Amino acid sequence: MNKCILVIEDSKAFRSFLEREFSRLGFDVVTATSLEETIEIFEFQQDFFCVVSDYCLPDAPFGEAIDLAISKQQRVIVITGNFDKDIRASFIEKQILDYILKDSVSSIKYAVKLVERLLKNQHHHALIVDDSSAIRQYIAGLLEHQYIKTTQASDGQDGLDKLTLHSDISFIITDHNMPIKDGISMIKTIRSNTANDTTPILGLSGSDDPTLTAQFLKAGANDFLNKPFNQEEFYCRVHQTLNLKESAQELYNLANQDPLTGLWNRRYLFDNARCTSDDSIAMMDIDFFKKVNDTYGHDGGDAVLIAVAEALKESLADSTVVRFGGEEFCVYDQGDSDSFYTALEIARQKIETLTVHHNGQSISVTISIGVSNLGDQLDNKILAADKLLYQSKENGRNQISC
Ligand code: GH3
Ligand code: MG
Ligand code: MG
Repeated sequence: MNKCILVIEDSKAFRSFLEREFSRLGFDVVTATSLEETIEIFEFQQDFFCVVSDYCLPDAPFGEAIDLAISKQQRVIVITGNFDKDIRASFIEKQILDYILKDSVSSIKYAVKLVERLLKNQHHHALIVDDSSAIRQYIAGLLEHQYIKTTQASDGQDGLDKLTLHSDISFIITDHNMPIKDGISMIKTIRSNTANDTTPILGLSGSDDPTLTAQFLKAGANDFLNKPFNQEEFYCRVHQTLNLKESAQELYNLANQDPLTGLWNRRYLFDNARCTSDDSIAMMDIDFFKKVNDTYGHDGGDAVLIAVAEALKESLADSTVVRFGGEEFCVYDQGDSDSFYTALEIARQKIETLTVHHNGQSISVTISIGVSNLGDQLDNKILAADKLLYQSKENGRNQISC
């Protein structure tokens, strides 16, 4: 990704603030204080992530720097002390990213938040479902302008097909009245499928049916917008919908992941493992781990836990690896039990040969494993695997019992 932002601003205070904030986000920041400097910069660089430009500069009082940036196909955020409705409307028509009133540093913070949003947008893929290709193109243009990848579908059924085809779709915008399958029926189908039950959906409709908003929301849409819509409102709703989805995801991860290793935790396992009698569970425990802590300190022990978790994730990529507690891991596998045993043996050997470097010292550990597919439920499978784990410990550690 191109990580350079151009800030065009003659006020030193605002310029320094923006420069500092964008650097904090990992951007290289190029600054200009006048139109003349902006022209010089564009002579050698035109591929900015975005341009944040003041409206009025000493040598360009009528937004000439903004027009120049737009003519160079840049994505522009306008900041201005001048809240003139006509000027605002004329710039929004020119497809700028946003128009921000510069009345205090806190309002400038909005520009920083917007850039943060654009960075996150790069991870989103939107599905646009509408029978009008002109509207699809228009919405796709708006979203792509804000770094959101798009896929289009011409009716509800096509939307469902595209959703199956592109597993990375993270956001859906849909019309209601369409041939073959309407938007609300499509949303109901999507919400009945657990894989997509939290994908954010924004409903759109040009119909004057006053009950449509409620119908959309009851079917499971997160928000609704009437057509034709105002571009600024569209962006606000898209941002709000994505922000909410991301906050929910962050909360989910906080509740279900182990913060030290990034592995799933026990709660995730018990909430998600739909155990059938053929599934296998492996319980693992690092050997003599207390001694690692005693010898290398607690942070040395933490470094070992992180490295062991990484090795397990790599060798057991087809299974669910969970930090069960302390230095114990649980692996849930739904495949063939012989292949699972082979993968566990590879993991055991990998950890045996692993060297963890910490504070100039090299730490090595081994793990003991118990694996079983006995039992028909998660808790009795765990119990069976745990017994076998203790058999591995008793028989000399660094081995698998099954
Ligand atoms: P065994 O081979 O029988 O499993 O011996 P062990 O020393 O590994 O087992 P024991 O249960 O006596 O010790 C486990 C240690 O793991 C004790 C505890 O302080 C440590 N531990 C648990 N969680 C963490 C953690 O998050 N970080 C670190 N550094 N240590 C942890
Ligand atoms: Mg142990
Ligand atoms: Mg233990």
